[in-house]
Amino acid sequence: MATTDVTANGTGLSPQVADELRASVRGGFAGPEDPAYDEARKVYNGMIDRRPAAVIRCADVADVIAAVRVAREEGLDLSVRGGAHSVPGFGTNDGGIVCDLSGMRSTRVNPERRTVRAEGGCTWGDLDHATHAFGLATTGGIISTTGVAGLTLGGGIGHLARGCGLSCDNLISADVVTSDGQLLTASEDENADLFWALRGGGGNFGVVTSLEYRLHPVGEIYGGPIFYPVDKAGEVMRFYREFIAQAPEQLGAFFAFQIAPPLPFIPEDRHGETMCAIVTCWAGPAEEGEQAVAPLLEAAPVAAQGLGPMPYPALNGAFDPLLPPGLQHYWKADFVRELTDEAIAAHVEHGPRVPSVEATMHLYPIDGACHRVASDETAFAYRDARFACVIAGMWPDPADNERNTAWVRDYWEAIHPHSEEGGYVNFMAGDDQDRIRDNYKGNYDRLAEVKGRYDPENLFRMNQNIQPAG
Ligand SMILES: Cc1cc2nc3c(=O)[nH]c(=O)nc-3n(C[C@H](O)[C@H](O)[C@H](O)COP(=O)(O)OP(=O)(O)OC[C@H]3O[C@@H](n4cnc5c(N)ncnc54)[C@H](O)[C@@H]3O)c2cc1C
Repeated sequence: MATTDVTANGTGLSPQVADELRASVRGGFAGPEDPAYDEARKVYNGMIDRRPAAVIRCADVADVIAAVRVAREEGLDLSVRGGAHSVPGFGTNDGGIVCDLSGMRSTRVNPERRTVRAEGGCTWGDLDHATHAFGLATTGGIISTTGVAGLTLGGGIGHLARGCGLSCDNLISADVVTSDGQLLTASEDENADLFWALRGGGGNFGVVTSLEYRLHPVGEIYGGPIFYPVDKAGEVMRFYREFIAQAPEQLGAFFAFQIAPPLPFIPEDRHGETMCAIVTCWAGPAEEGEQAVAPLLEAAPVAAQGLGPMPYPALNGAFDPLLPPGLQHYWKADFVRELTDEAIAAHVEHGPRVPSVEATMHLYPIDGACHRVASDETAFAYRDARFACVIAGMWPDPADNERNTAWVRDYWEAIHPHSEEGGYVNFMAGDDQDRIRDNYKGNYDRLAEVKGRYDPENLFRMNQNIQPAG
């Protein structure tokens, strides 16, 4: 069965097939009758409440193959889940199979070669922990609980991107269970077309059971957030635009609108005040950190700053407490080639209306090393964009859904005319499926061909879906 409707319900599992799986799967099986089911079907976005026929908690590649086979043979939707952070909730479904890799989290660092192999269910917290012991790191997300596989397959943007490239640029090889249940290795030398597609094409091509990354000497960093009064947002954004264009690549720095959370370095009487911020990460020589960040302290009067030397994983976990699982999420995104004055005016109108302390707009620089990879060298096409912008609606109470989603939509409508047609697939909403061609620009047709070769029936369709060609 090849349906392209991501909300399509499967037919469920017969008791006989469910029993066979229960007996054969090494990790665990949770169906609606099991006590573990309600926990097992949860994803990070609390807005998503779906009831799959079964969650297969994989312990190894054999379990993954079993999950893929049963979904294919029974004609069921198949969700592949690692960190469960997919905002549209692609990590679960109604009536289908969930292939949950969160039990597959081992890592193996090779300090001499400066590589790490991570199983498909690892989070960035797992990977950072493993590599930091050797003073090494690679580009990952800014929250430690996000899954390495989901993030890398879409591209992978984080503090180290300007100096080290996107996460997918650091991928050396991946093991993939394809729709026919085979295990393939994808690298520059093996199944190179699949390897090309995995680096940006999302979860469209199979279940990635392990990923091997290139590492960089990053141990201690200098950085943290700088907060400014929101009425200076225009000045700060304009300063940031000029500054980041010429800043050394070892400096990561993204712009944000943010209601000040109750952090110790923010004066208590300013907690809850809407501000703008720049979050910095200097990954160059330690003694140059203060100097590298210093100009940003002159962008406007500083309301509060949490700068200092810290282990790289500490920065990557710094925002975790603000974003626990179970919040409501609705996000929209665009790539930005030029941050024009008109775009800044739209940001300055909508950013300060950020409705919740968890919600934010982030403008991530994706220049430097990201630009040294050609647009057609990997599936991630926007190598000429300078920024990836995400309006991330996040709030705790479902009663506030309308207000928060309206903020995201209105904001996005205001900035979109000043942005590229496409956006980063990992920041897209479930209602953004019609933007898929734009998200991949000139790479879409080649992606559709690779999809046709490795997943002709579109078994892997719970994602920003690429239709198989041919
Ligand atoms: C709080 C938060 C912070 C974020 N920060 C960043 C950030 O700093 N940088 C950034 O680039 N993105 C960021 N993202 C976006 C993130 O990259 C995507 O949500 C990504 O899909 C999450 O991957 P996951 O494994 O956690 O999610 P899941 O829901 O488990 O997976 C999402 C999708 O990825 C695919 N997938 C996951 N694992 C596999 C696998 N093993 N094999 C094949 N396909 C797989 C599947 O299609 C799946 O539906 C963030 C998201 C959240 C919610």
